[in-house]
Amino acid sequence: MSAPMSDTPDTAIPSGLASSSTAFDRTALADFRELAGRIDGNGPRYTSYPTADRFHGEVGDAAYRRALDACRANVPAPLSLYVHIPFCENICYYCGCNKIITKDHTRSARYVDYLAREMAMAAEQLGERRAVMQSHWGGGTPTFLDPVEMRHVMSALHKHFELLPEGEHAIEIDPRRVGDDRMELLGELGFNRISLGVQDFDPEVQQAIHRVQSYEETNGVVRAARRLGFRSISMDLIYGLPHQTTQRFSATIDRVLEMRPDRLSVYSYAHLPHVFKPQRRIDPAALPPAAEKLDILVSTIERLTAAGYVYIGMDHFALPNDDLAIAQREGRLQRNFQGYATHAGYDQLGFGVSAIGAVAGHYAQNARTTDEYYAALDKGQLPIVRGFETSEDDRLRKFIIGELMCNGTLDIPAVEASYSINFAQKFAAELVDLDKLALDHLLRRTRNRIEITPLGRLLVRRIAMVFDHYLREDALRPKPAAPAANDAKVIPLVRYSRVV
Ligand code: SF4
Repeated sequence: MSAPMSDTPDTAIPSGLASSSTAFDRTALADFRELAGRIDGNGPRYTSYPTADRFHGEVGDAAYRRALDACRANVPAPLSLYVHIPFCENICYYCGCNKIITKDHTRSARYVDYLAREMAMAAEQLGERRAVMQSHWGGGTPTFLDPVEMRHVMSALHKHFELLPEGEHAIEIDPRRVGDDRMELLGELGFNRISLGVQDFDPEVQQAIHRVQSYEETNGVVRAARRLGFRSISMDLIYGLPHQTTQRFSATIDRVLEMRPDRLSVYSYAHLPHVFKPQRRIDPAALPPAAEKLDILVSTIERLTAAGYVYIGMDHFALPNDDLAIAQREGRLQRNFQGYATHAGYDQLGFGVSAIGAVAGHYAQNARTTDEYYAALDKGQLPIVRGFETSEDDRLRKFIIGELMCNGTLDIPAVEASYSINFAQKFAAELVDLDKLALDHLLRRTRNRIEITPLGRLLVRRIAMVFDHYLREDALRPKPAAPAANDAKVIPLVRYSRVV
């Protein structure tokens, strides 16, 4: 057991993230199994800090316009854009996204008109045609839009923004709905990255989640993307779905490795039928028990890293020559609403229902329903219904959480210099909690540096939560029924898991 605080010089601490070998530390995986029953690795994903559940209704059109004005003053910096297309033709039972299930394509024709209006309004507030380094269309199913609608949205984007050809321009694709023609259109429209929902290739699992998608459909999209020169192909898998076992999920991994996507996300399914109605159609008795789910995760990490993928963190893997892995090696990986990103430092505008923007220290989220969204735009207002104006303390904690989650290390003197603080004084309580986690080998700490161990990388949300001021405040509030004392659980754990 290592001491939480050591006098080891900082230079002697090896960086667990900079290793040239991609195979994951086997000892760390064995320790992870042992710790999993005692330390809950779930927690916020910190795609924002404060997390979106802290947003409130005092941020609306006027506050967001002030944020856009501040962004306008920062003209040379490029932007990042997110466009939400909420429509899907069929429901996937595990889904937790904000989506509209419909086969009526007239609904999307109206929606894209409003999207264009929202873009025009935001661009007018920004004052000039700003450069965009990163754009992402998500959903829902962006490829629900027909070619005319896609061109309409893209031409609105081009009218109001300059999409830099050297930037990352990504779209989420449902392989069941996309043929070669559509892939050619996506290339022509300027997308250079695609993200495919796969989840699992096992037929029984697919039936149980109501998402039947053949290997041939998925592989057809991958082959078309390679032929057309897309720069990166990303795939999403989910573990913890009904009927999954380690062996069966391993067969899915075999098929995924045949296609060798550049990036892989392997999400944990969180069964929350009281929150996400479609999940009520999933038989809880068919879900793998916790021990099996853990085995699936450990086996997946072993297999992917043995196959040459770099473990980026949380649920993400990338090939060593992918931009994400390169950015992590170079210590410049960041997080934004899409997860890990290479260009996350820019202000981000969100368009469409429920989209979130992060502009000049403000988070701003659009209305969730199309009715509210259309009504606001009809009144000439940006359709913001909630958000958060961050404080200096929020921005400091966001930076610390980002460094720990993305780059696995924190240079304390650099933070003190940038934020004019005495780290040990400001974070005295946090350091006590960190030292408890250090006893479980999740991190090492010296006076000048916090370093996440390979084991800690598997439980990094748990470490990040130590710096979450709002969770710490929650922990101080009286609770109706106190859980049993457990020194390892320093602050209460909240279950957050992306399910698509
Ligand atoms: S998982 Fe994706 S495709 Fe399926 S219902 Fe949800 S948003 Fe639509």
